[in-house]
Amino acid sequence: MNQEEIKNESKKQTNFIRDIIDEDLKNGKHTKIHTRFPPEPNGYLHIGHAKSICLNFGLAIDYNGFCNLRFDDTNPTKEEQEYVDSIKEDIKWLGFDWQDREYYASDYFDQLYEYAIKLIKKGKAYVDSLTADQIRETRGTPTEAGKESPYRNRSVEENLELFDKMRNGEFKEGDYVLRAKIDMASPNLNMRDPVMYRILHKSHHRTGNKWCIYPMYDWAHGQSDSIERITHSLCTLEFENHRPLYDWFVQELEIYPPRQIEFARLNLSYTIMSKRKLLSLVEGKLVDGWDDPRMPTISGLRRRGYTPESIRNFSERVGMAKRENTIDVSLLEFSVREDLNLKAKRVMAVMNPLKVVITNYPDDQTEDLEAVNNPEDLSMGTRTLPFSKEIYIDRDDFREVPPPKFHRLSPGKEVRLRYAYIIRCDAIIKDNSGEVIELRCTYFADTKSGSGTSSKKAKGTIHWVSAKHVFQAEVRLYDRLFSVEDPEGEEGKDFTEFLNPNSLEILNNCKLEPSLKSALSGEKFQFERIGYFCVDTKYSKENSPVFNRIVTLRDSWAKIEQAGK
Ligand code: ATP
Ligand code: MG
Repeated sequence: MNQEEIKNESKKQTNFIRDIIDEDLKNGKHTKIHTRFPPEPNGYLHIGHAKSICLNFGLAIDYNGFCNLRFDDTNPTKEEQEYVDSIKEDIKWLGFDWQDREYYASDYFDQLYEYAIKLIKKGKAYVDSLTADQIRETRGTPTEAGKESPYRNRSVEENLELFDKMRNGEFKEGDYVLRAKIDMASPNLNMRDPVMYRILHKSHHRTGNKWCIYPMYDWAHGQSDSIERITHSLCTLEFENHRPLYDWFVQELEIYPPRQIEFARLNLSYTIMSKRKLLSLVEGKLVDGWDDPRMPTISGLRRRGYTPESIRNFSERVGMAKRENTIDVSLLEFSVREDLNLKAKRVMAVMNPLKVVITNYPDDQTEDLEAVNNPEDLSMGTRTLPFSKEIYIDRDDFREVPPPKFHRLSPGKEVRLRYAYIIRCDAIIKDNSGEVIELRCTYFADTKSGSGTSSKKAKGTIHWVSAKHVFQAEVRLYDRLFSVEDPEGEEGKDFTEFLNPNSLEILNNCKLEPSLKSALSGEKFQFERIGYFCVDTKYSKENSPVFNRIVTLRDSWAKIEQAGK
């Protein structure tokens, strides 16, 4: 996908961020916009990040500006190369390109150190000897001012000397920190002399052992934006009251001032979105890794069979809000259905097979029937489907005692086999336990689909596969990972208590049409009347694909919820 195509696809919906950008361009504040996506490499990206990616890269594309990829790697204890690699892969897969603008906050450690010295020299930062607990205890509350540290008024010389020793590894972790000297009585707690540096004797995934002091996120973030001359620094609402601090740093340092704009983070029903909690699912082996097809991670959605287009459309559809809200996960499911409806080849697949013998069909005959690959896109052509005396249909499509309006197969009734003939059920064969194991039917030779030779009509059409030609495969039916709308919402309960016990059902006896044997890893199909499926990239082997259900054809949860009301 090139960036031009993404630009054409964008609906350029107006929103408050675009309004600000339009204004800044109109009045000449900027001639070009420059955004960035700043992930912390401490986990895999999730659908919430996808929204931020689509926003930042999308705006840059629409306005012919730039978007940087910047890893916010200020915390050496949780960050790993694996995460950096996965983040890059996910952004590329979504269709975006940072070209040569791949940056790391750690690239700026020297510059940030210089900035810190500048603040110390201006009397705007000091080395504190209080412990982390003491700093917390003296911070005050929203209604009560904090207490100034007894070390707050150290001389510039002493501060410079101590900071130099901090950097040189002469102290233990926790002995000292560097704090900004702002206002312990500020109503905004972020302004109460926030910590800028702490001592950590840890090796960093990029800078190795060069540093033993590391900048806090709040000290690194705004300055990184400034160094990269980010015009519009878009972030989620929880950073709104950090903005005065970022502005203060930039002002005191007399450096380029980015403009921060906050938007509401994406929350999805039936989903959790915190990297920490997703990591705990992975570490607790409650899921099959970060890319488990039930995970809300980009890699999980990719393995499940979501397309980049469907995720980009979803992000656009969700829009930009200034207030927290929760989006119904069915909107995400709708987006992938909508996209795959146009793209996915239709095939016939029987999930839960019931054998049907067509008693009046010649024993050794095989007919090649022509089937349309996608009625939404005839350019996708046709394929050949073999038909023979014994076929499988889905158990669900037969009822011994049909409920009212059941237009599928039942004793004495007729149904059309898709692309083939009308058949009538004459007899049922049961095993000793009374379970139906086979149906005996007759077919009407003049009812072949497309032949127009018979006026006979059937009320229902069902799918089937020829028994002799089937390809048997494993099919994984995935459902929502959580069974409640807000897994994090119940006080005193852990979100893992709400894991949906039926979120994965493995079917081993599915009968698929023979063309699926050569399905490629990652290839997507519509199993007619059932749903959209994707060849799993992890468990499939050559000529032995395993299929993941991406989504059912219709929203079955809506029905269940309706029924429950
Ligand atoms: P998490 O809370 O899941 O750990 P985070 O915000 O700590 O996420 P970062 O790696 O710091 O993760 O996020 C990178 C960017 O993605 C930030 O700009 C952040 O605002 C944005 N982002 C994270 N989560 C969401 C979300 N749910 N909706 C929209 N943007 C998000
Ligand atoms: Mg973060």
